[in-house]
Amino acid sequence: ERIIASGATREDEASEASIRPRRLADYLGQQQVREQMQIFIDAARGRSEALDHVLIFGPPGLGKTTLSHVIANELGVNLRATSGPVIERAGDLAALLTNLQPHDVLFIDEIHRLSPVVEEVLYPAMEDFQIDIMIGEGPAARSIKLDLPPFTLVGATTRAGLLTAPLRDRFGIVQRLEFYSSVELTQIVTRSAQILGIPCEAEGAVEIAKRSRGTPRIANRLLRRVRDYAQVRADGRIDRDSANAAMQMLKVDPEGFDELDRRLLNLIIENFDGGPVGVESLAAALSEERGTLEDVIEPYLIQQGFLVRTARGRMASHKAYRHLGLKPKRAPEP
Ligand code: ADP
Repeated sequence: ERIIASGATREDEASEASIRPRRLADYLGQQQVREQMQIFIDAARGRSEALDHVLIFGPPGLGKTTLSHVIANELGVNLRATSGPVIERAGDLAALLTNLQPHDVLFIDEIHRLSPVVEEVLYPAMEDFQIDIMIGEGPAARSIKLDLPPFTLVGATTRAGLLTAPLRDRFGIVQRLEFYSSVELTQIVTRSAQILGIPCEAEGAVEIAKRSRGTPRIANRLLRRVRDYAQVRADGRIDRDSANAAMQMLKVDPEGFDELDRRLLNLIIENFDGGPVGVESLAAALSEERGTLEDVIEPYLIQQGFLVRTARGRMASHKAYRHLGLKPKRAPEP
């Protein structure tokens, strides 16, 4: 299991139940998103209306699912959660929609993976709280219109560009999640350690935060691994030394990069002379899927200025050369 793997693991899910923030006040960082959502939620509640549909996008582990739960909690309504690939037929979506209570939140993760047929059903549901469903087959088939209770669709996706324009246009609220600062991640680690009863010194929390690739899910995952290490190799306390030693064991470097990040940068530098190189060639050379490269690995490397995305492909920056202890050649600055 990679520390920076994109999806939630079974272990993540078990501990997420207790550490996942439930209220906006506990949803750390993302200040602008938080302030805006507070206003939109208060306004909808004040008018006794369903909140407008919300699209949340951002790399895996930044808090899209968490935010959808927070929204439902703050609205005081139920949340039904599903995901794009799970809804196979129009009837599956119809069943979900017709079971909602007024003002409920329907959360669809990976909403860019809805099939076109299902997406068609979603449009009138979002716009007019109505669905047209076909019953029967052949000449006897007919379409019936069903009224739905007013509801809020919260859709999550890794990149807004993956959505079709008609779907994107139907969201009144669009929120983009940013990578978290080390200060914010330190708060998140400290909060999680408190809830899980892990003795964690401030300096230990900072070490974990700095290496979490701006991502709360990774911060919480590293916290659990460092706890294991501190328990077996030290006195159980997480401090700077035990955190550092654990990171070395996990091969997570001071930038929070793991072996795959370093292999990617190395590959561009050594095999492609610093780039530009197409994402397909990189994916093939790394035996990774293109989607994983684009959604999980690249965004942080780009945000931190190690990788530059150009029209002709990816290039390694001077910073990447220096990080790997190499002399920069003709690499561009981001
Ligand atoms: P995504 O749906 O974007 O992949 P999640 O919502 O599942 O990410 O978040 C992963 C974990 O990170 C959650 O279980 C939660 O504990 C933690 N987390 C996410 N966002 C925040 C936040 N703003 N404040 C504190 N913890 C957070």
